[in-house]
Amino acid sequence: MDPAGFSQYYEDLSSAVLRVSKTAGYLAGEDLNFHRTSSAEFSKSLDEESERILALTSAVIKAANAGTDLTGPTLQDEDSIDDNWRSVVDVIDSLLEKADACLDEFTGVIKKLSPSQEEQAQAAPAKKGPAFPTIYDYGPSKIPKPQLEFERKPDSTDMSPFKPLLKSKPHAIVPLEKSLKTKKIDGVEAYPHPYETEIRESQYPEPVYQVSPPIDYLPFESTTATFVDTLDGVKEMLEELKKAKEIAVDLEHHDVHSYHGLVSLMQISTREKDWVVDTLKPWREELQILNEVFADPKILKVLHGATMDIIWLQRDLGLYMVGMFDTFHAASALGFPKRSLKFLLSKFVNFEADKRYQTADWRARPLPTGMFDYARSDTHYLLYIYDRLRNDLIEDSTEEASKIDYVNEGSKKEALQRYERPVYDAANGLGPGGWYDLLWRNPGNFSKEQFAVFKAVHQFRDQVARAEDEGWQCVYPKHMLFKLAQTMPLDLGTLFRTLSPMTPITKERASDLLDVIKQAKVDSIDGPEWRDIAPPKHVFKAPEDTTPQSDPSAPVAGRCETSQFWGDVLKAKEPSLPIANTLSALAEATRISLPLPPMPTTISEPQEQLITASAPAASQTPPAPAPSKPEAPKYFTVKDLGGPRKRKVTPIDNPEQALSTTADLDDTSNPDVIQVSSKKSRKDKKKRKEEKKEEKARKAKAEAEAPFDYGAADAVLNAPSAATATQPRRKAFNPYAKAMEAPSGARKIKRDETGKSLTFRQ
Ligand code: AMP
Ligand code: MN
Ligand code: ZN
Repeated sequence: MDPAGFSQYYEDLSSAVLRVSKTAGYLAGEDLNFHRTSSAEFSKSLDEESERILALTSAVIKAANAGTDLTGPTLQDEDSIDDNWRSVVDVIDSLLEKADACLDEFTGVIKKLSPSQEEQAQAAPAKKGPAFPTIYDYGPSKIPKPQLEFERKPDSTDMSPFKPLLKSKPHAIVPLEKSLKTKKIDGVEAYPHPYETEIRESQYPEPVYQVSPPIDYLPFESTTATFVDTLDGVKEMLEELKKAKEIAVDLEHHDVHSYHGLVSLMQISTREKDWVVDTLKPWREELQILNEVFADPKILKVLHGATMDIIWLQRDLGLYMVGMFDTFHAASALGFPKRSLKFLLSKFVNFEADKRYQTADWRARPLPTGMFDYARSDTHYLLYIYDRLRNDLIEDSTEEASKIDYVNEGSKKEALQRYERPVYDAANGLGPGGWYDLLWRNPGNFSKEQFAVFKAVHQFRDQVARAEDEGWQCVYPKHMLFKLAQTMPLDLGTLFRTLSPMTPITKERASDLLDVIKQAKVDSIDGPEWRDIAPPKHVFKAPEDTTPQSDPSAPVAGRCETSQFWGDVLKAKEPSLPIANTLSALAEATRISLPLPPMPTTISEPQEQLITASAPAASQTPPAPAPSKPEAPKYFTVKDLGGPRKRKVTPIDNPEQALSTTADLDDTSNPDVIQVSSKKSRKDKKKRKEEKKEEKARKAKAEAEAPFDYGAADAVLNAPSAATATQPRRKAFNPYAKAMEAPSGARKIKRDETGKSLTFRQ
């Protein structure tokens, strides 16, 4: 439609609809039969109009179904509306879903790549627009799963200890056979890090400790990167890398349509050349010949924020880093206001990186030019940046405290991380992919039943994702876990409405999911409450004056004894009276069904405690003492909302690192991120700032869960700038937010007739 004519059309349509509903309102349904008897003409005209409206409705339903797999009902008479009501609702649901997708596309949350757009992306400079496949597409992927072609196919259901993929071990101090033996690590039989000894004993090359003039990078525009997608190409590159003293390395990763995630690209730069390696080839594990350089302590590997890269490299490619220098730690040691690569690029190189590409679908082949250039720019300037940082670090050091040592120690710790397969812990919910962490972060006002349903739908999501080798998001997103637990749908209709828009994977298993919910509800009778399991601080605590507890030592309430909404109004004063019983039952029902935002946890608790407690799954090893530089600012970061972004990997052996994952590598000004400085002098100021941030984050969360305020909302048809396209979705406008609050959404008023029951689409 012509966008210019839309507002006129919209106005005409709304006033027409308004007129019809007004007119219809004049006639009371129950009076129709009376009117029929009073006038034959009226009766005839009524029948004609009914027929016409039915025919129109059928036609509209048909039009709405065009191009979908829904087969809408044909409405012959009034009764058939009742008989087919579910199908009608399905059609409306699917229309709303379509509208939702269109709005997402319009506001830039979803970018679909049409062939013409792809050409445009190839022609246009990277900054012009994000015309590349993004990861926010949780529907069926248009890109075939590359993992199906791998020589070693991923098996997401394998829970055995992860055995390093190493076939040979260049630069070994401990020989390969000895390095591949399991032993008890933190009480569990596991394979140790195969390069542990080599990393610990490694010495950094002398030039790392010497100030020298930065070596200028080659101009970006007049050079290009070599795309490496053959084994011969890898070998040629390796020969050149062996001659280098320093190389820069970075990875791009995809984790939407893969359970464990896929290293999709590896970028490598020397002072002279850039390579972009395709790591999705069936022979990808052959890339471990690169250990000849990666595990060589004499060749410095410069990475930025390598926490996840270390995990991904060993998990997918059998690659390990000995002699790594992480520029993220350098930025920390120098006390820079931000420590993202974007910041370093802009500070030292005057290059503005378009970080929207971080969320691109890196499996895309052929790689659109914009993505190729972006990937290359992640390592192209990094050696020059290293030169500048190294000089600053040396100049900033004292006799007793070398900032270079601080960075090297931090980098070694990162390189020592060990990948372990994420095992699903149904009972305790531990691990980064467990339910405990989620509830700990968002302690809801869950009843016993709701807690059981939360756990069940969480486990179901993990099972389905594993079976399909898809990310959890492709089953249902995190907030749906809470919604499902809150609503506890017991019929398909409610389930569809609760999960709307339902991803295709879940649609296929809707009745299984329903069974899981029903079973969890039944089993919850013998199950625990969240309050039995949660640490006391993370339990929904009722204000003391409203919860006179007879036993002061009794556990803190997992949910309020008194409704936060109704206060004492519904409280049974005299339990013997039937009315009081009814009221208290009502209060109970209200308490469970009202979608009240979860109460904030105490915001004044010391951050240090937050840090230790937020990793219930991390190995129990106490955090290693801070490296020897007391005055070097040391930061920890905790992503308070939404959990670690880079999920499903278990960086263990290094809990401290596990906590300060790359969640804020991109931008320390991210409001989701709480920062803690261990530096005493800054502590108070920092703390106030943190509290403010935390408060802000909580407010944002509460807002997100509060009923949608149409009055205060941004105009939806006013597209935000492209720069906001990668912001978390749904914050700006969620057309379902309001609908979700209703326990069961659209429902036709049921006429009191016998012998009729609602039929559900199976
Ligand atoms: P980088 O080191 O910045 O190139 O990021 C490496 C990979 O981490 C990317 O390919 C993404 O898979 C993931 N990643 C980085 N930043 C984000 C982000 N903001 N959101 C989601 N994934 C990200
Ligand atoms: Mn990176
Ligand atoms: Zn990168």
